[in-house]
Amino acid sequence: MRETLAGPRVLLRRLREVMAEPIGAQERLDKIVRVIAANMVAEVCSVYILRADGALELFATEGLRATAVHRATLRVGRGLVGLIAAEARPLNLPDAQAHPAFAYLPETGEEIYHSFLGVPVLRAGRTLGVLVVQNRSHRSYTEEEVEALQTTAMVLAEMFAAGEIEDLATPGADLDLNRPFRLEGAVFAEGIALGHVLLHEPRVVVTQLIAEDVEHELSRLEEAMRSLRLSVDDLLARGVEAGQGEHRDILEAYRMFAQDQGWVRRLREAVAAGLTAEAAVEKVQSDMRARLSRSADPYLRDRLHDLDDLANRLLRTLLGRPHGPAGAAMPSDAVIVARNMGAAELLDYDRDKLRGLVLEDGAPTSHVAIVARALGIATVGQVDNVVGLAESGDPIIVDGETGEVHLRPPGDIELAYVDKVRFRARRQEQFRRLREKHSQTRDGADITLMINAGLMMDLPHLTESGAAGIGLFRTELQFMIASSFPRLGEQEAFYREVLEGAQGKPVTFRSLDVGGDKVLPYIRSHPEENPALGWRAIRLGLDRPALLKTQIRALLKAAAGCELRLMFPMVTEIAEFERAKQWVHSEEEHLRRHGHRTADQIRLGAMLEVPSLLWQLDELLEKVDFLSVGSNDLFQFMMASDRGSTRLAGRFDALSPAFLRPLRKVATRARKAGKPVALCGEMAGKPLEAMALLAIGFRTLSMSPAAIGPVKAMLLDLDLEPLSRRINAMLDENISASELRTELRAWANDERIPV
Ligand code: PEP
Ligand code: MG
Repeated sequence: MRETLAGPRVLLRRLREVMAEPIGAQERLDKIVRVIAANMVAEVCSVYILRADGALELFATEGLRATAVHRATLRVGRGLVGLIAAEARPLNLPDAQAHPAFAYLPETGEEIYHSFLGVPVLRAGRTLGVLVVQNRSHRSYTEEEVEALQTTAMVLAEMFAAGEIEDLATPGADLDLNRPFRLEGAVFAEGIALGHVLLHEPRVVVTQLIAEDVEHELSRLEEAMRSLRLSVDDLLARGVEAGQGEHRDILEAYRMFAQDQGWVRRLREAVAAGLTAEAAVEKVQSDMRARLSRSADPYLRDRLHDLDDLANRLLRTLLGRPHGPAGAAMPSDAVIVARNMGAAELLDYDRDKLRGLVLEDGAPTSHVAIVARALGIATVGQVDNVVGLAESGDPIIVDGETGEVHLRPPGDIELAYVDKVRFRARRQEQFRRLREKHSQTRDGADITLMINAGLMMDLPHLTESGAAGIGLFRTELQFMIASSFPRLGEQEAFYREVLEGAQGKPVTFRSLDVGGDKVLPYIRSHPEENPALGWRAIRLGLDRPALLKTQIRALLKAAAGCELRLMFPMVTEIAEFERAKQWVHSEEEHLRRHGHRTADQIRLGAMLEVPSLLWQLDELLEKVDFLSVGSNDLFQFMMASDRGSTRLAGRFDALSPAFLRPLRKVATRARKAGKPVALCGEMAGKPLEAMALLAIGFRTLSMSPAAIGPVKAMLLDLDLEPLSRRINAMLDENISASELRTELRAWANDERIPV
């Protein structure tokens, strides 16, 4: 059967007919290669599909020997077909045999063909196979032909992804499409999760690929582009209002792409070649992904992310679907997979069904990571390309011990993890048994372990962990999940519930810490170059008396008849603390005057998060009832290193003498002044870091509930006195963070201290 050359549109129309026919997968593939060969006046058209073992298997051919189908294979990187798969780039050769990569497969009988055009079959930037046409003559294929073949490859990609060809592969050889992946990232939250993927921003699946009416598709594309540009401008305007610095950069990049003529031209060309507008978006994006994802340049890779987002937006606009998080039904064991997300977005998911979280970006001290730890869901971040590889519904394992993520894990890995989960449960049981033990080092130093909390659901952890109290209650979380500003009565009821839930154990509330990366949707903020150094926390509170005073009043009323511990975040100058303190007292007086009961005792503290306080320590200690070191912020400011930056995460070590020396000074001065001091940043929850903190004089640590067991297990076996001498002596010398880390580890090893 031969058809006449009739251009890509006719080819696509014919393909659409073949796709719609009620026939088996092999027959469909056979027909497809025949249609392509006829349309492109090629003597050969072949489809190779990538298997999980790295072989490209010939699945269908017109022109080569039929007996070679499912027999002939090439490895990725070998031969021209292997080269195309490896590089995810088309190859257009008038004389294929002259190419150095040419490998002759005798079983196919292809020696008589000279010219060769091959394109990768791509989906989300991944190579699924290779589509080839060949001719006897030394001909050069035109640009249009290359385009047409690429477009055809897209149709194939959809067919592959729809699962139609799974059963065709040689028995025992799985397709690469369903290949298991083992990915590595950084641990953001401890725990192990076995579950199923839920893409936070689900990929839009385009089912209608081939245009019925090209003019109509072109005008749909133009319309969608126009609306995309408007929505990006609008987002940008709103982003400016909300003052989201980093977000703004991303939006600017969006705007740049949305106006980019190269991108728009490629989209138009793909539609002109016969694709629907949405298929064109997918094709151009897939090509772009294939090209850019091989780039080692982090800047380019970031831009690729931006482009992905933009393409997704465009697709949603075309399909009339709203933007926003996953609409798909949430599996009962959901593992959310996302590029990155805010803490509030994570809280939007049904906690009962949430098992794990995997992020492509992020940093362990970012707020989403802190919330994930508070929720007790295993989280791994900085996992390269996981969004591109995962599909909603895929089985997945998140190992929040090693930082591994197993996508579509093979059976033996899954079994190993079922074992690991059992083992962890046993260890948790051991930790639970420690719960009743007095928290004291082997040589008799009493250590107070507290938990960090922020939502009602954290309260049960207090009893479960056996912690002495809540050392940091992040009040802003309640504000972040509310859709409007919580009124006085609501706040009061909430704080009372927290105090009741704590059953007499002390709770240290922190006043609202918003601004910076913690944005409240209902509070207007202003654009800032450096939000972390900007109008946030106590600065915002003092400038918005109604806001802070309402919170103070709510806390005072909630603590009626008991003690109120309250601390203020981001204090930079003593005067700020004094002013806040004055407000507490005037609110108290006001309440009493109006016949309300308030707290029996008020203890007010400052968080030490801004380095300037290190030079005002003695004066500060005179004014406060207690201090709490917020090491997350203090570290970011001391090291001038954004706590949310993916690239800087792990670059500087909290065990650095530059950080530990001032911390030691804080502990020493506080002891001298007779004022309690605690540390409530993330480092307190890591056994090795906690060991160092005890050694330099801290006796109260506040951490995520899951960390209490491991830290307690460490300290129960610790002889603190000799370790203290050793670490303090080392700190007085010229040592590095890694030497200190090695020393602590060796110490723990020798003394059989579990860390
Ligand atoms: C800190 O900065 O260390 C801290 C405990 O506060 P947050 O992490 O909420 O900023
Ligand atoms: Mg802080």
